[in-house]
Amino acid sequence: MVGLARHDETEIECPFCGKGKIRMYHKEGYLQGKTSRIAAGAKTTLHRVDDKYIVRDNCSNCGKTKEEIQRAFETGETKQATHEDRLKRLREAGLPERVEG
Ligand SMILES: [Zn+2]
Repeated sequence: MVGLARHDETEIECPFCGKGKIRMYHKEGYLQGKTSRIAAGAKTTLHRVDDKYIVRDNCSNCGKTKEEIQRAFETGETKQATHEDRLKRLREAGLPERVEG
């Protein structure tokens, strides 16, 4: 038996350059019933399966790979954090700063 979730193809703008068109697969989330056998009988719990987006294309405009676009889409980050950025973020997160002198 094969269970096929609904499978739509959708198009988004590249999160990096905003110009390229990226094809994505959109797998709709659904509710899945899970039956577990316990001593007193059977118990069915519903389990929510989230929507999934799968990037299919590299950007033809700026050349970002689908892996990069996928990550940007999932994390909302469109640029790679530089070393400076990371330090700055740590500082903003309240890392104790020692003031000397
Ligand atoms: Zn792009």
